[in-house]
Amino acid sequence: MSWRPCVGLEVHAQLRTDSKMFCSCSSDFGGEPNSRCCPVCLGLPGSLPMPNRQAIEYVIKTGLALNCQVAERCRFARKNYFYPDLPKNYQISQYDEPLTHGGYMDLDVDGTTVHIRVRRAHLEEDTGKNIHLPDGRSVVDYNRCGVPLMEVVTEPDFTTAEEVRVYLTTLRQVLRYLAVSDADMEKGQMRCEPTVNLINDETGQRTPKVEIKNLNSIRSVFEAVEFELDRQRDAIETGEQMWQETRRWDENHGVTATMRRKETADDYMYFPDPDLVPLAPSREWVERVRKELPELPAERRHRFMEEYALPLYDATVLTEEQTVAEYFEAVAHVSGDPKASSNWVMGEVLRHLKERRGGPEGSPGVGIADFPLPPGYVAELIALVNEGLISSTIAKDVFARSCEDRRTPREIVEQDGLAQISDTGELERIVDEAIAANPKAVEDFRGGAEKALGAMVGYIMRATQGKANPQKINDLLRSRLTQE
Ligand SMILES: [Zn+2]
Repeated sequence: MSWRPCVGLEVHAQLRTDSKMFCSCSSDFGGEPNSRCCPVCLGLPGSLPMPNRQAIEYVIKTGLALNCQVAERCRFARKNYFYPDLPKNYQISQYDEPLTHGGYMDLDVDGTTVHIRVRRAHLEEDTGKNIHLPDGRSVVDYNRCGVPLMEVVTEPDFTTAEEVRVYLTTLRQVLRYLAVSDADMEKGQMRCEPTVNLINDETGQRTPKVEIKNLNSIRSVFEAVEFELDRQRDAIETGEQMWQETRRWDENHGVTATMRRKETADDYMYFPDPDLVPLAPSREWVERVRKELPELPAERRHRFMEEYALPLYDATVLTEEQTVAEYFEAVAHVSGDPKASSNWVMGEVLRHLKERRGGPEGSPGVGIADFPLPPGYVAELIALVNEGLISSTIAKDVFARSCEDRRTPREIVEQDGLAQISDTGELERIVDEAIAANPKAVEDFRGGAEKALGAMVGYIMRATQGKANPQKINDLLRSRLTQE
């Protein structure tokens, strides 16, 4: 019997607004506990919420980028439950009338296109934070209460953990391109809850749906989904009882464990929030947002391959972050050599940023905005190499010096005497010296050991501090060694 995996995803992304969803408190992360709250986000009697226009626009923007319809009219609903981090006793969310719905995302998974339907992208507010102190007491910080959250829900279309991984990476990239969220999972700006079960297409049987919580990175989502699919397959075989439940991912042991039996929507007694009027985004507004959508990662990747004749790999790396893509384009335009520009940006520039980044993979950390060299400098390096004035090895050294003291590459080559030795007389003298100093290598080479040439080339490179043209040296060495 074949059981088909059925995985759906709920992603919560914290929106990059200055103020909270329904009041003017700052939505900044951190701060003295309970210093960023007011009667509205604390739900004190008599206070009235007022929606944040920017947050609404961000969800419309995301919905459009995910090919969703934007509702002509929708409503906020109260999701009723009690928890100490939610002083109102309900969370303002959207239930049967989301702001956007019915979209999709086409993913490139190992060269195959996988179509994932996006059910909805809607708005809600975040809760506060319970903190459990070592002495056994629990305290609560309401600063996060009311921070705008966008929830993006897919249909259960994923069939592998890898598809989930690609979706999350792509969604994070899209949210960053749209500048609606920093979407850093490690910082809790993006949270993800997969729902996992198996369906038998022949018999129509299905395992109960399991929702997984406590996932702090894309990698842990991948591992948890993989584990849960295996666990359910094993349970079918052994006939073990399964429940519709919420399980938490135990990062240290690499397993999911029961947290609580699943609540159903009825448990929350959703109803329209009577304090908020229905939301009816005008079509002019929606069309303006649509027009302002930036070029998205997939389109840009495509364009880079066409316009600059770059291989897929280069285009993918360069478009991962919008600012890197822009930097590459600037270098390519000035240098007129797209492939060399791509090599430089993917190589030295990204390596330089990575060394200073130190954060977890995928986090914005030190971005290209902090990179010290303007694109023109990298273009100048490319020109110096193409003119034959310096070798590509020396160019890397010039790059490092330029990052250090911000002199232009041409200045560095001139002031530090790094130009290649092109004077043939000078090169011949060094070649002779190398031959005299390496009698063993000379003998080996003449005996047919091609590799022995390397010892002499190395000697010359050391003697000239890399300033000799390797091709010229090779030619000179060969002609000298075969003449005599
Ligand atoms: Zn407030």
